[in-house]
Amino acid sequence: MLQRLATPADLPRGERVIVFSPHPDDDVISMGGMLQALFNNGNTVMVAYMTTGERGVSAADIERHQLFLQTLGLAYDDVSEMKIAIRWSEALSAIMVYGMLAENARQLRLPFYTLGGNAPLTDADVAIVYALLDEVQPHHIFVAADLQDPHGTHEQCFLAVQQAAARYAPPLTAWLYRGAWQEWGIDEADVFLPLRPADLEMKILAIKRHRGQMHAPPVAGNDPREFYERAHARNLETGQRLSATTGADVYAAEAFVVMDKTAFVTTPPNKETG
Ligand SMILES: [Zn+2]
Repeated sequence: MLQRLATPADLPRGERVIVFSPHPDDDVISMGGMLQALFNNGNTVMVAYMTTGERGVSAADIERHQLFLQTLGLAYDDVSEMKIAIRWSEALSAIMVYGMLAENARQLRLPFYTLGGNAPLTDADVAIVYALLDEVQPHHIFVAADLQDPHGTHEQCFLAVQQAAARYAPPLTAWLYRGAWQEWGIDEADVFLPLRPADLEMKILAIKRHRGQMHAPPVAGNDPREFYERAHARNLETGQRLSATTGADVYAAEAFVVMDKTAFVTTPPNKETG
């Protein structure tokens, strides 16, 4: 039985885990501490980047990479693939902070996003997620549940995982995470992972590896803060609230809602702020 205030020793060990990250940076922004603990616990961790995130690449960033290629005498003119490569390489660089490698990551490139705008979810999207579940046979899945992102991409991704999980026969445990756009309230979350100052520093380092998302990226939403500042503030606030309610000395913490597959597949997407 999981402790509500978990230590890494209470978390999964030696099991198979898929972290579904809607954009290439949600994993480290929202659950960098958990990612570190899961990997260090010897789990087989696969981070599945559901969308390419290409619309989050600025013109200045593309220009810089084009100059980089030209300087090396290399020619490449597919701007869309360059944007995808920028986000992918940043995502890999970020998880490498935790010692993870390319073998721990997968690009799903869900079609609803690559078709431009956010097209309706189709069976093609769900089939891709299902194929990964079937391949990895995870004991645990982590799913983004901060559904207040500006274009609704997180909700589309949530629904894709939910529909794929409904078709998938084996049992699994679903962990719903938040962080980039909103956070779980103390009364909502089932499990908290306390972070020491060094853990939070490491998490911020990983978030900052998404260099193209710093300093006013194209999709920043209404919150003027950098993503690492949001994560820092939210984790500290959760720690303060936990300290006040439990009497424990919690510096910072990530929060998770945990449920079995049966409950997960019938849970309506919840956009409420915690
Ligand atoms: Zn996102």
